[in-house]
Amino acid sequence: MDAIFETWDRIILLIKEEMKDAPFNSFIKPLEPVSIEDKKKLVTLKAPNKITKERIEGRWYNNQIRDSIRDVLGPDYDFKLVLPEDIKPAKPARKASPAVSKFTGNPINPKYTFKNFVQGKSNHFAAASALAVARGPFDTFNPLFIYGGVGLGKTHLICAIANEIITRMPELDVMYITAETFVNDYISSMRDKSMTEFRDKYRHVDVLIVDDIQFLAGKDASQEEFFHTFDELHNGERQIILTSDKPPGELQNIQSRLASRFGWSMTADINPPELETRIAILNKKAENEGLDITPGLMEGIEYIAEHIESNVRDMEGALTRLISHSKLANEPINREYAQRVLKDIIQDNRLRVTPDKIKEAVAERLEVEVKDMESNKRSSNIVYSRRIAMYLCREKLGIPYQRIGELFGGKDHSTVITSCRDIEASMKVNNQLSTIIKEIEEQLR
Ligand code: ADP
Ligand code: MG
Repeated sequence: MDAIFETWDRIILLIKEEMKDAPFNSFIKPLEPVSIEDKKKLVTLKAPNKITKERIEGRWYNNQIRDSIRDVLGPDYDFKLVLPEDIKPAKPARKASPAVSKFTGNPINPKYTFKNFVQGKSNHFAAASALAVARGPFDTFNPLFIYGGVGLGKTHLICAIANEIITRMPELDVMYITAETFVNDYISSMRDKSMTEFRDKYRHVDVLIVDDIQFLAGKDASQEEFFHTFDELHNGERQIILTSDKPPGELQNIQSRLASRFGWSMTADINPPELETRIAILNKKAENEGLDITPGLMEGIEYIAEHIESNVRDMEGALTRLISHSKLANEPINREYAQRVLKDIIQDNRLRVTPDKIKEAVAERLEVEVKDMESNKRSSNIVYSRRIAMYLCREKLGIPYQRIGELFGGKDHSTVITSCRDIEASMKVNNQLSTIIKEIEEQLR
């Protein structure tokens, strides 16, 4: 799952071949990979205690480990052993901090863990990046920027990072806040003339996690303050983790110097989960609630996963409703029961506009085929329809340009931007176009 653990697994298999079980189990198995630095060609391993470390350093295990590392990684690699207490200085030396008020940010839901996060194609990269940061903050991906639509697991993932770091590296100060909390706190600190305390608390953490950064849009003073917070933390090599509904380049009303800072980030997107992932998420949720996954409940889960596609929170709400209804009414769950109990929730979701519905509405109005809009065909009415559909995906749903490109057969992000701008500009001068768009919007309602 995690590259460094995978590599270590390969190394350890080679070592095992050369060693008897007993010493292997007592000396090698307890080692944990901390980092693999390609530049230094150095593998850092954590020994659980001093005795193990000294034993390894003083014996031929030493060569055995080195040889296996070289077999896997290359001839010049070496390794060093560290103790659990050595790992802490990976955190930059803290400035003598004044009496920092013990504000720890917004509460972190303890259920938001990696274990409870179901991975699929739609979120794999974001989950892998988050896990890498949780295992090795500061130098893996810093800053890390996760973006995607509502209810797709951004908050879950970044809280999983927080929970993981808090458990594995309790000596680090981790702060999780929403951008909204930051703004409110900034405003009240200005009012109370307590800016020094405000700065102390945000600028002395080791890991700052800010959720829904798009909330800063248009709030210039807060952006200014956040800019300085960001710089100070970044210069001090502290870990920064951000989420947003759009990629850094598409945030509106964010000052360019702040936007360019976000652009330094490792960015990872989360997309709506595929059917199998939706089923797996609901299964996990039912399991976590201590439920038996009976065939009837499985039918209910499948029914929800088939009908709610674009928001995991809505899926979870539907499952909760289904389960509590069945408990109260003492009726067994099955597909028909799910259909009955969830009628209005599913209706609402059906009515919600999706990219597919936009494509269908445009295709119908302009008499083209959806699959042609998704192709590379360049005939003028297809290009025209494609552009209108892209524009509507952007306008109505705020989907990132990159993602819109993917939805239309892998078009370039800059092609999408040009298309949207063209349509927007033509609408102003071309009444026929604006009427067509109005009609399509009507149809979508
Ligand atoms: P966002 O912050 O992107 O709006 P959240 O992180 O609040 O979304 O997720 C909404 C709900 O869906 C949460 O209860 C979360 O636990 C759940 N969820 C989302 N994605 C997953 C996933 N891949 N596996 C398990 N639960 C998920
Ligand atoms: Mg969220």
